[in-house]
Amino acid sequence: MLDLNKIRADFPILSRQVNGKPLVYFDNAATSQTPQQVIDVIVDYYSNYNANIHRGVHALSQEATDKYEAARHTIQKHFNAKHAHEIIYTSGTTHSINLVANGFTSLLKPEDEIIVSALEHHSNIVPWQMLCERTGATLKVIPMNLEGELVITEYDQLLSSKTQLVFVNHISNALGTINPIKEIIEKAHRVGAAVLVDGAQACPHIKPDVQALDVDFYVASAHKMCGPTGVGMLYGKEEWLNKLPPYQGGGEMIAEVTFEKTTYADLPHKFEAGTPNICGGIAFGAAIDYMNATGFEAIAAYEHELLDYATQKLLDIEGLKIYGTSKHKTSVISFNLENIHPYDVGTILDKMGIAVRTGHHCAQPIMDYFKIPGTIRASFAFYNTKEEIDALVNGIKKAKLMLS
Ligand code: PMP
Repeated sequence: MLDLNKIRADFPILSRQVNGKPLVYFDNAATSQTPQQVIDVIVDYYSNYNANIHRGVHALSQEATDKYEAARHTIQKHFNAKHAHEIIYTSGTTHSINLVANGFTSLLKPEDEIIVSALEHHSNIVPWQMLCERTGATLKVIPMNLEGELVITEYDQLLSSKTQLVFVNHISNALGTINPIKEIIEKAHRVGAAVLVDGAQACPHIKPDVQALDVDFYVASAHKMCGPTGVGMLYGKEEWLNKLPPYQGGGEMIAEVTFEKTTYADLPHKFEAGTPNICGGIAFGAAIDYMNATGFEAIAAYEHELLDYATQKLLDIEGLKIYGTSKHKTSVISFNLENIHPYDVGTILDKMGIAVRTGHHCAQPIMDYFKIPGTIRASFAFYNTKEEIDALVNGIKKAKLMLS
């Protein structure tokens, strides 16, 4: 059981007012809030040991390096990677996916195929389209159904000896569907294809085990899981990371540089050119510590309670339609009111201090599938309450009255 009062006290932002009303923050799928424990780590870094890392001979540089590398071990342990050097710091999920997509440029031939799912965020579509443009490879799509689930029998048909790569999100940001990634990975491996899982939306809710999943690449952003923006990670199996060429050239990623020839550093530094987000990396580790101390099982159970409560209350509103009705779902509800534009509802809710997201949620193909311009998305975190859901439901009822 979560101690909600204690948890909410950890998040200073939750006690602020917006438009004269207590903030109700239901935009967690876009960015989660930051607990004081993580804010303290950020303040401590800039107050006490801000310095560039690696190769520094002085004390501050050593301290910053030790903490940055310790955070890499925290991330490794959290995702159960076999080696710390299989964890590459990036600026976030988007950067991680682009790094892998770029690396595959030299590995794909024009006759190859790569498979994406219909449920993806644009950042797990566009880099692969760009890869296809560079290589001549073909992009195939696993379709979805009206519940917002992937049609796995169609996936079976798409897989062949031509398939080199499959990339799919663990949880959809637009609908909240939890995809059967273990099955997707096993089937891809049977035809010799590698799999990248976009874990941006899964990591705030569950603790992925990359070895148990046997996934080849797993990517995430710190800001979705109580950490700061501008930092994230790429997990890659050592053999894959060794196969991929570096993404960016620069300092830190080299072994030796001459004008005739440059050799690259070993993992993980080969993929970490330039001065990284040092404070961000350390704070990412602190965010993971915070979430583990809270407990992922308790988080998932409570968020499910919030999801069930909100789903029931929202469905009581006449003319409200929820998109994404899979039984395998996390605490994201995408919905619309009949004949009312989602943006108008979002604007009225904001006046009441209620933060939701409206629009296509960077998943235009999903909106096209449902033939809608967008949805209103309320996404709940473990620090939200049923009282806040009541405020949302009342707000929507008022918005409906005003806009009908
Ligand atoms: N994939 C999914 C499923 C996401 O929800 C997001 C963020 N909305 C991203 C990728 C991109 O993450 P970032 O903007 O942190 O790179």
